Amino acid sequence: MKPAPFDHVAPETLDQALALLVEYGDDAKVLAGGQSLVPVLALRLAAPAWLIDLNRIASLSGIRELDSGELAIGALTRQRMVERSDTIAGANPLLAAAMPWIAHAQIRNRGTIGGSLAHADPAAELPAICVACDAILVAQSRSGRREIAAANFFRGMFETALAADELLTEIRFPGWPARRTHGFLEVARRHGDFAICGIATTVDRGAAGRIGDVRIVAFGVTDRPIRLAAAEQALTGTTGGGNAIHAAAAAAAVGLSPRSDHHASSEYRLELAQVLTRRALTQALQDKTA
Ligand code: FAD
Repeated sequence: MKPAPFDHVAPETLDQALALLVEYGDDAKVLAGGQSLVPVLALRLAAPAWLIDLNRIASLSGIRELDSGELAIGALTRQRMVERSDTIAGANPLLAAAMPWIAHAQIRNRGTIGGSLAHADPAAELPAICVACDAILVAQSRSGRREIAAANFFRGMFETALAADELLTEIRFPGWPARRTHGFLEVARRHGDFAICGIATTVDRGAAGRIGDVRIVAFGVTDRPIRLAAAEQALTGTTGGGNAIHAAAAAAAVGLSPRSDHHASSEYRLELAQVLTRRALTQALQDKTA
């Protein structure tokens, strides 16, 4: 199918884009890498009269390490640039580990970090990484700028906290603690497909080797990335041995009600959540770099 006819406008600055967003309102859609939006248009699931193309706004692209130790990534930064960045490999190895799992290289060449987060596919990798890392998503409208914690940004399937007149402009990741390790795994039918279930985890060790802060985030399972709180609690305070990992994996099922769809049943996803929690924690706890 072909998209319904639309007009295309390509502002050069963020201010111009924000003004156009107000002017065209519901008649417009924002275009970043187009890797999710163009299929949506081609299937006529949306038929905007205008596309506001962000690709000429240079200020929305780039990767910076801030004096505060935070990592700041412009919303229009291509996924491939994130994947290949030495800065990101050093500053957030979990993010670096997740990138090759997103679709295929050709899609990552165009797809942007901000486009993936604004699209909020529940099976996407980047929303889960943002939740696991307590990222801040920066939104801008003509009336101001606000910072939204990743935990509050994803509201449901393809639904975010962004208002209609806001653009996602930047994603900020807190500094990576010295004694943190990570694990990342997913199951999909073929490499590059959206995940049926995935797990992203970070494990922080205290001075005595005991486990302090743990994040275990499942994606592809419910309508948004979800922290597995019981599994996190089961590991916290332990020394991270095999028994603790098994207890955490078993606890991954507590309170989790995966969806069923044509890719997998709820029961299969529940099983995957436990198996992948065990394997991802094993990855994280065998990592001796911290
Ligand atoms: P676009 O398609 O341009 O936009 C997506 C949506 O976000 C639109 O509604 C748009 O209006 C909005 N938007 C974009 N940027 C902004 C912004 N700055 N502020 C506010 N709203 C904005 N993704 C995965 O995570 N995992 C996968 O395994 C995966 N597999 C894929 C396989 C295929 C075959 C394809 C075609 C895509 C796949 N994707 C996958 C999606 C891909 O990662 C997209 O790049 C991404 O979801 C959207 O990014 P984009 O820059 O292309 O955004």
